[in-house]
Amino acid sequence: MIATAIEVPVLREGGKRLASILEEVARATVPGTTTEKLNALAEKLILKGGDVPSLIGYTPHGAARPYPATLCVSINDEVVHGIPNEQPRTIQGGDIVGLDCVLTHKGIFVDSALSVIAGKGEPVWDEAARSLLDATKEALAGGIAVARAGNHVGDISAAIEKIGVERGYGIVYELGGHGVGGAVHEEPYIPNVGDAGTGEELLPGMVLAIEPMFTEGSPKVRLMKDGYTFVTIDGSRAAHFEHTILITSGAAEILTAI
Ligand code: MG
Ligand code: MG
Repeated sequence: MIATAIEVPVLREGGKRLASILEEVARATVPGTTTEKLNALAEKLILKGGDVPSLIGYTPHGAARPYPATLCVSINDEVVHGIPNEQPRTIQGGDIVGLDCVLTHKGIFVDSALSVIAGKGEPVWDEAARSLLDATKEALAGGIAVARAGNHVGDISAAIEKIGVERGYGIVYELGGHGVGGAVHEEPYIPNVGDAGTGEELLPGMVLAIEPMFTEGSPKVRLMKDGYTFVTIDGSRAAHFEHTILITSGAAEILTAI
Protein backbone atom coordinates (compact mmCIF):
# COMPACT_ATOMS: atom_id res chain seq x y z
CA MET A 1 0.00 0.00 0.00
CA ILE A 2 0.91 3.64 -0.26
CA ALA A 3 0.01 4.97 3.18
CA THR A 4 -1.93 8.21 3.45
CA ALA A 5 -1.41 10.72 6.24
CA ILE A 6 -4.46 9.25 7.95
CA GLU A 7 -3.17 5.68 7.73
CA VAL A 8 0.33 6.34 9.05
CA PRO A 9 -0.71 6.61 12.72
CA VAL A 10 -2.71 3.37 12.37
CA LEU A 11 0.34 1.64 10.88
CA ARG A 12 2.49 2.92 13.72
CA GLU A 13 0.08 1.71 16.37
CA GLY A 14 -0.40 -1.69 14.69
CA GLY A 15 3.34 -2.10 14.31
CA LYS A 16 3.95 -1.23 17.95
CA ARG A 17 1.34 -3.75 19.04
CA LEU A 18 2.79 -6.52 16.89
CA ALA A 19 6.31 -5.79 18.12
CA SER A 20 5.30 -6.02 21.75
CA ILE A 21 3.32 -9.23 21.12
CA LEU A 22 6.27 -10.86 19.37
CA GLU A 23 8.55 -9.75 22.20
CA GLU A 24 6.26 -11.45 24.71
CA VAL A 25 6.05 -14.63 22.61
CA ALA A 26 9.84 -14.60 22.26
CA ARG A 27 10.21 -14.41 26.04
CA ALA A 28 7.88 -17.41 26.33
CA THR A 29 9.98 -19.43 23.87
CA VAL A 30 11.72 -21.52 26.52
CA PRO A 31 12.62 -25.21 26.64
CA GLY A 32 9.61 -27.35 27.55
CA THR A 33 6.96 -25.10 26.10
CA THR A 34 5.18 -26.14 22.91
CA THR A 35 4.63 -24.50 19.57
CA GLU A 36 0.90 -24.75 20.24
CA LYS A 37 1.22 -22.74 23.46
CA LEU A 38 3.18 -20.03 21.64
CA ASN A 39 0.48 -19.84 19.00
CA ALA A 40 -2.23 -19.60 21.65
CA LEU A 41 -0.33 -16.83 23.42
CA ALA A 42 0.06 -14.79 20.22
CA GLU A 43 -3.62 -15.21 19.43
CA LYS A 44 -4.71 -14.26 22.95
CA LEU A 45 -2.58 -11.10 22.91
CA ILE A 46 -3.82 -9.99 19.48
CA LEU A 47 -7.47 -10.50 20.42
CA LYS A 48 -6.94 -8.77 23.78
CA GLY A 49 -5.86 -5.66 21.88
CA GLY A 50 -9.01 -5.78 19.75
CA ASP A 51 -7.03 -6.64 16.61
CA VAL A 52 -7.34 -9.43 14.06
CA PRO A 53 -4.91 -12.34 13.64
CA SER A 54 -4.36 -12.19 9.88
CA LEU A 55 -2.60 -15.47 9.09
CA ILE A 56 -5.30 -17.86 10.24
CA GLY A 57 -7.60 -18.53 7.32
CA TYR A 58 -5.29 -16.79 4.84
CA THR A 59 -4.66 -18.69 1.61
CA PRO A 60 -1.55 -17.49 -0.21
CA HIS A 61 -1.46 -17.71 -3.99
CA GLY A 62 -1.01 -21.32 -5.01
CA ALA A 63 -1.69 -22.82 -1.57
CA ALA A 64 -4.08 -25.78 -1.36
CA ARG A 65 -5.69 -24.76 1.89
CA PRO A 66 -5.88 -21.80 4.28
CA TYR A 67 -3.12 -21.38 6.86
CA PRO A 68 -4.43 -22.88 10.12
CA ALA A 69 -2.75 -20.77 12.83
CA THR A 70 -2.10 -17.25 14.11
CA LEU A 71 1.67 -17.64 14.38
CA CYS A 72 4.32 -19.36 12.28
CA VAL A 73 6.86 -21.23 14.40
CA SER A 74 9.85 -22.58 12.48
CA ILE A 75 12.46 -24.63 14.34
CA ASN A 76 16.10 -25.21 13.30
CA ASP A 77 16.03 -26.49 9.69
CA GLU A 78 12.54 -25.07 9.21
CA VAL A 79 13.00 -21.74 7.47
CA VAL A 80 9.52 -20.21 7.57
CA HIS A 81 5.80 -21.00 7.83
CA GLY A 82 6.04 -23.82 10.37
CA ILE A 83 2.54 -24.72 11.56
CA PRO A 84 2.49 -24.61 15.38
CA ASN A 85 -0.83 -26.24 16.20
CA GLU A 86 -1.34 -29.31 14.00
CA GLN A 87 1.51 -31.47 15.24
CA PRO A 88 2.70 -29.39 18.17
CA ARG A 89 6.33 -29.71 19.11
CA THR A 90 8.12 -29.19 22.38
CA ILE A 91 10.85 -26.57 22.29
CA GLN A 92 14.29 -27.91 23.25
CA GLY A 93 17.07 -25.82 24.81
CA GLY A 94 19.28 -24.43 22.05
CA ASP A 95 16.64 -24.64 19.33
CA ILE A 96 16.66 -21.80 16.84
CA VAL A 97 13.02 -20.75 16.80
CA GLY A 98 11.59 -18.40 14.18
CA LEU A 99 8.41 -16.56 15.19
CA ASP A 100 6.44 -14.85 12.43
CA CYS A 101 3.10 -13.10 12.76
CA VAL A 102 0.75 -10.73 10.95
CA LEU A 103 -2.01 -8.73 12.59
CA THR A 104 -4.58 -6.29 11.30
CA HIS A 105 -5.11 -3.12 13.30
CA LYS A 106 -8.07 -1.01 12.16
CA GLY A 107 -7.93 -2.61 8.73
CA ILE A 108 -4.16 -2.22 8.25
CA PHE A 109 -1.82 -5.23 8.06
CA VAL A 110 1.60 -5.36 9.68
CA ASP A 111 4.05 -8.27 9.47
CA SER A 112 7.11 -9.06 11.56
CA ALA A 113 9.32 -11.99 12.49
CA LEU A 114 12.33 -12.76 14.62
CA SER A 115 14.45 -15.74 15.53
CA VAL A 116 15.53 -16.64 19.04
CA ILE A 117 17.68 -19.32 20.61
CA ALA A 118 15.53 -21.09 23.16
CA GLY A 119 17.04 -20.94 26.61
CA LYS A 120 16.23 -19.73 30.07
CA GLY A 121 18.19 -16.54 29.94
CA GLU A 122 21.53 -18.20 30.61
CA PRO A 123 24.43 -17.27 28.35
CA VAL A 124 24.21 -18.97 25.01
CA TRP A 125 27.28 -21.07 24.22
CA ASP A 126 26.21 -21.97 20.73
CA GLU A 127 28.28 -19.34 18.98
CA ALA A 128 27.37 -20.71 15.55
CA ALA A 129 23.68 -20.15 16.20
CA ARG A 130 24.34 -16.70 17.62
CA SER A 131 26.38 -15.69 14.57
CA LEU A 132 23.69 -16.92 12.19
CA LEU A 133 21.04 -14.89 13.99
CA ASP A 134 23.25 -11.80 14.21
CA ALA A 135 24.07 -11.92 10.50
CA THR A 136 20.43 -12.31 9.49
CA LYS A 137 19.43 -9.42 11.73
CA GLU A 138 22.21 -7.27 10.29
CA ALA A 139 21.04 -8.12 6.78
CA LEU A 140 17.59 -6.88 7.70
CA ALA A 141 19.12 -3.65 9.02
CA GLY A 142 21.26 -3.39 5.87
CA GLY A 143 18.21 -3.77 3.64
CA ILE A 144 16.28 -1.20 5.61
CA ALA A 145 19.21 1.25 5.46
CA VAL A 146 18.88 1.53 1.68
CA ALA A 147 15.08 1.42 1.60
CA ARG A 148 14.28 5.00 0.77
CA ALA A 149 12.36 6.87 -1.90
CA GLY A 150 14.25 7.03 -5.17
CA ASN A 151 16.13 3.79 -4.54
CA HIS A 152 14.92 0.52 -6.02
CA VAL A 153 13.80 -2.86 -4.75
CA GLY A 154 17.09 -4.29 -6.00
CA ASP A 155 19.03 -2.03 -3.63
CA ILE A 156 17.37 -3.79 -0.70
CA SER A 157 18.04 -7.22 -2.25
CA ALA A 158 21.69 -6.40 -2.94
CA ALA A 159 22.27 -5.11 0.61
CA ILE A 160 20.85 -8.32 2.09
CA GLU A 161 22.81 -10.51 -0.31
CA LYS A 162 26.07 -8.67 0.43
CA ILE A 163 25.92 -9.44 4.16
CA GLY A 164 24.98 -13.08 3.53
CA VAL A 165 27.88 -13.54 1.13
CA GLU A 166 30.35 -11.78 3.43
CA ARG A 167 29.41 -14.01 6.34
CA GLY A 168 29.33 -17.18 4.25
CA TYR A 169 25.70 -18.08 4.85
CA GLY A 170 23.16 -19.58 2.47
CA ILE A 171 20.81 -16.82 1.35
CA VAL A 172 17.32 -18.20 0.81
CA TYR A 173 16.54 -16.83 -2.64
CA GLU A 174 13.26 -18.63 -3.30
CA LEU A 175 11.41 -16.61 -0.66
CA GLY A 176 11.48 -12.91 0.13
CA GLY A 177 9.81 -9.74 1.29
CA HIS A 178 6.77 -8.00 -0.08
CA GLY A 179 4.48 -5.04 0.08
CA VAL A 180 2.07 -5.07 3.04
CA GLY A 181 -0.46 -2.79 4.72
CA GLY A 182 -3.55 -3.42 2.61
CA ALA A 183 -3.24 -7.22 2.68
CA VAL A 184 -0.94 -9.96 4.02
CA HIS A 185 1.06 -9.95 0.78
CA GLU A 186 1.14 -7.18 -1.80
CA GLU A 187 3.40 -6.07 -4.62
CA PRO A 188 6.29 -5.56 -4.96
CA TYR A 189 8.07 -8.83 -4.28
CA ILE A 190 11.42 -8.12 -2.59
CA PRO A 191 13.99 -10.83 -3.33
CA ASN A 192 16.76 -11.50 -0.83
CA VAL A 193 19.33 -11.49 -3.63
CA GLY A 194 19.61 -9.06 -6.53
CA ASP A 195 21.34 -6.16 -8.19
CA ALA A 196 21.37 -2.62 -6.88
CA GLY A 197 19.49 -0.12 -9.03
CA THR A 198 17.16 -2.72 -10.55
CA GLY A 199 13.48 -3.40 -9.95
CA GLU A 200 10.64 -1.15 -8.93
CA GLU A 201 11.40 2.33 -7.67
CA LEU A 202 10.55 2.97 -4.02
CA LEU A 203 8.04 5.73 -3.37
CA PRO A 204 7.29 7.71 -0.22
CA GLY A 205 4.43 6.09 1.71
CA MET A 206 5.12 2.55 0.47
CA VAL A 207 4.73 -0.05 3.19
CA LEU A 208 7.11 -2.98 2.82
CA ALA A 209 7.93 -6.14 4.73
CA ILE A 210 11.62 -6.96 4.40
CA GLU A 211 12.58 -10.47 5.48
CA PRO A 212 16.01 -12.02 4.97
CA MET A 213 16.44 -15.74 5.70
CA PHE A 214 19.94 -17.17 6.05
CA THR A 215 21.04 -20.78 6.48
CA GLU A 216 24.20 -22.44 7.76
CA GLY A 217 24.39 -24.56 4.61
CA SER A 218 22.54 -24.76 1.32
CA PRO A 219 20.25 -21.84 0.47
CA LYS A 220 17.80 -24.24 -1.18
CA VAL A 221 14.49 -24.98 0.49
CA ARG A 222 11.71 -27.47 -0.04
CA LEU A 223 8.06 -27.40 0.94
CA MET A 224 6.85 -30.06 3.37
CA LYS A 225 3.73 -32.15 2.82
CA ASP A 226 1.73 -29.87 5.14
CA GLY A 227 1.80 -27.35 2.29
CA TYR A 228 3.35 -24.56 4.37
CA THR A 229 6.55 -25.43 6.17
CA PHE A 230 9.70 -24.65 4.19
CA VAL A 231 12.80 -26.57 5.32
CA THR A 232 16.38 -26.43 4.10
CA ILE A 233 17.08 -29.29 1.71
CA ASP A 234 20.30 -30.21 3.53
CA GLY A 235 18.88 -30.01 7.06
CA SER A 236 21.02 -27.02 7.98
CA ARG A 237 19.63 -24.50 10.42
CA ALA A 238 18.05 -21.22 9.36
CA ALA A 239 17.23 -17.82 10.80
CA HIS A 240 14.63 -15.24 9.76
CA PHE A 241 14.06 -11.61 10.73
CA GLU A 242 11.38 -9.31 9.36
CA HIS A 243 10.15 -5.77 9.85
CA THR A 244 7.36 -3.77 8.31
CA ILE A 245 8.71 -0.39 7.27
CA LEU A 246 7.39 2.86 5.85
CA ILE A 247 9.30 4.39 2.95
CA THR A 248 10.04 8.10 3.23
CA SER A 249 12.37 10.44 1.40
CA GLY A 250 14.85 9.92 4.23
CA ALA A 251 15.51 6.92 6.45
CA ALA A 252 12.72 4.36 6.43
CA GLU A 253 10.56 4.23 9.53
CA ILE A 254 10.62 0.80 11.16
CA LEU A 255 7.04 0.23 12.21
CA THR A 256 7.53 -3.07 14.03
CA ALA A 257 10.63 -2.16 16.07
CA ILE A 258 10.64 -3.32 19.68
MG1 MG B 1 6.03 -12.50 8.27
MG1 MG C 1 6.22 -11.33 5.36
